[in-house]
Amino acid sequence: MTARLLDGPTVAAAIRQAAQPEIAAFTAARGRPPGLAIVLVGDDPASEIYVGSKMKSGAEAGLRVDLERLPATASIEALLALVARLNASDAHDGILVQAPLPQAMGRHAAQRVFDAIDPAKDVDGFHPHNAGLLVQGRPHLVPCTPAGVMVMLDHYGIPLAGSRAVVIGRSDIVGKPMAMLLLRRDATVTICHSKTPDLAATAASADILVAALGRPGFVTREFVKPGATVVDVGINRVTDRALAQSLFEPGSPRLAGFEKRGSVVVGDVHPAVAAVAGALTPVPGGVGPLTVAMLMQNTVTAAKTRAGI
Ligand code: NDP
Repeated sequence: MTARLLDGPTVAAAIRQAAQPEIAAFTAARGRPPGLAIVLVGDDPASEIYVGSKMKSGAEAGLRVDLERLPATASIEALLALVARLNASDAHDGILVQAPLPQAMGRHAAQRVFDAIDPAKDVDGFHPHNAGLLVQGRPHLVPCTPAGVMVMLDHYGIPLAGSRAVVIGRSDIVGKPMAMLLLRRDATVTICHSKTPDLAATAASADILVAALGRPGFVTREFVKPGATVVDVGINRVTDRALAQSLFEPGSPRLAGFEKRGSVVVGDVHPAVAAVAGALTPVPGGVGPLTVAMLMQNTVTAAKTRAGI
């Protein structure tokens, strides 16, 4: 069997297209487009790329997107003051503070900042208020990556009710909200983490397996029930040649790309899983584009709710 590929850009385009009339109607009604503020602290290269893609996508969709930058040396107080200013801004319906924050801000800086964002503008869905609503089965602003995965599964008609789902990873950003969204759709959900015994056997019980652990190629064939749907959330940059060679066949285009650039971006799922799974999200080109599309959708949702539309 060769897995059906679940294509992220196709689904992301559908999400953006569905949002277009909403953005146009909001802009006409309010005399301004929905507004998103993105806060970037420091100059982490990966964050620069993520923020660049969010800004481009937002602007193309017709949103107002403002980038607020702080130096890597900024204090947590300065960041909280910026968040307070954006909370009070009428032009901004959504606020996103790009993680990770500089280590010098302290261990719990990101949570402190997420807690400070007005829940009505929390387009990342990381505020405890929005996390609580999701747990109670009345989601409002849901974390973009798991929300995008649900749109992907629905787009391709993957049955959820009555299915057995396994989520590897229990972060507040991906694993936990993913599990809640699947539970809400009547899947029977198991959440796994670094202390889970017999991980491969547990994963192999899944009709839907979501890998969100941040370990390149960790999920191998023995983790996958034949025919299962496998969602690969991981984004890992591999620079180790031996690891790249263990993931890709000699002569494959991906390995050639590694040789040329000295690195390759891979997911948490080993490419050989394509021979066992029924459906699979590729990396790149799977879940990543959906995260950005859902950010646009969340900004529109926040704008409409704030305006009472
Ligand atoms: P975190 O590091 O916050 O969480 C990782 C989770 O995986 C933890 O719960 C951890 O368990 C678990 N884990 C780690 N190693 C193992 C292991 N060997 N066996 C079982 N479980 C393990 O990561 P995130 O949730 O933020 O991100 C996960 C991945 O998704 C990353 O690759 C990240 O880059 C990617 N990502 C992709 C996005 C996209 O747009 N596609 C968006 C966000 C993230 P424990 O809790 O016990 O430590």
